Amino acid sequence: MNDWLSDRNGTLHAESVSLDSLARQYGTPLYVYSRSAIESAYAEFAQAAAGRKVLVCYALKANSNIAVIDLLARAGAGFDIVSGGELHRALAAGADPSKVVFSGVGKNEAEMRLALEHGVRCFNVESEPELLRLSGVAAAMGTRAPVSLRVNPDVDAGTHPYISTGLKQNKFGIAHDRALDVYRQASTLPGLKLVGIDCHIGSQITELAPFLAALDKVAELVTQLTDAGIQLEHLDLGGGLGICYDDETPPARSVMLSALFSRIDTHPALAGLEVLFEFGRSIVGNAGLLLTRVEYLKSSPEKRFAIVDAAMNDLMRPALYEAFHRIVPVLVRQGEAELFDIVGPVCESGDWLGRDRRLTVQEGDLLAVLSAGAYGMAMSSNYNTRPRPAEIMVDDGQVYLIRERENVEALYALEHRIPG
Ligand SMILES: *Cc1c(COP(=O)(O)O)cnc(C)c1O
Repeated sequence: MNDWLSDRNGTLHAESVSLDSLARQYGTPLYVYSRSAIESAYAEFAQAAAGRKVLVCYALKANSNIAVIDLLARAGAGFDIVSGGELHRALAAGADPSKVVFSGVGKNEAEMRLALEHGVRCFNVESEPELLRLSGVAAAMGTRAPVSLRVNPDVDAGTHPYISTGLKQNKFGIAHDRALDVYRQASTLPGLKLVGIDCHIGSQITELAPFLAALDKVAELVTQLTDAGIQLEHLDLGGGLGICYDDETPPARSVMLSALFSRIDTHPALAGLEVLFEFGRSIVGNAGLLLTRVEYLKSSPEKRFAIVDAAMNDLMRPALYEAFHRIVPVLVRQGEAELFDIVGPVCESGDWLGRDRRLTVQEGDLLAVLSAGAYGMAMSSNYNTRPRPAEIMVDDGQVYLIRERENVEALYALEHRIPG
């Protein structure tokens, strides 16, 4: 799962660079990514799609560093964005707007105008009022917005409730049984051009079955749409493929795509449609880690704690979803391993990175929190006035600083006292 990491002479290396030397040069906490891990994950999707009309988009909310976007743009990826800010980022990184799809339940008018001005590939529309709003904005600009409706296929992705999006009770998408009517309505609106259909059922999905079930539901709708005289150009199957954090066994990227293509070929209604994907986690998740240093070891009658210099503001997933990340020492030590909770300095009991981990560790040691490339830095905050970590991209033996560590003055530079 992390073949860009290896133990060399008792020290963990990222490609050929020692994590110990990175920590000494750039400080901790520090995000470290591997160029080859990102590129090979994308390439696996691209190769599985070779010979078909496919656009693999990268959902840049997973990790929106300009360097990451740029690498994927150069590899030919499209992008899935969920805000005007992400569109600015993608453009700044050199993404081609005609390969950008715009998702999200709450697009505002300014974001719609921005995306229309730049000529994005498609708006994934998630509600009827959004359709009306988008039509109005596009018509006022004298254009038509390319639209795909995000349908909610009501399948259980079998993942954490906070990252499951394809169930009836979720805020996402248009209910499957309303979709045909909404398409009919959309086809009468002056500012829209119907180009696609879209679904995204959740994240960190480790089985094929929910993806296939969603595909069948969407295919059924496409058949009905064709019968109703609505001809689409593409089918967007979203993202959501899981990665191995611990002992999960998600299908390989190529296996997933092959399974979906085989199923697509059984649905005559889907013949000729271009297929889009929106993968985030499965491209960058296992291509990054968070490097942190142990500040203190502390024991209570009940527990032993390793208090580290990274915290929930740097990596929120454990606090938010009780997510598991493997945590490994950078320097292999002899001696008996003991059980530790790995916790940060933030004043919240939810501020933990790992619980009951068996480690041989001392004060000052470095720990690597693995599989932190997706929804790590992207979800970080400045809670407790903690500057965000720096980010490093390792490219074989080369090391690039792709984001500088924030400085604390910048954290309150936009704030103002009131007079009197
Ligand atoms: C978050 C998101 C994705 C990416 O999900 P991953 O699980 O990271 O692959 C794709 N599409 C939409 C609409 C999303 O919101």
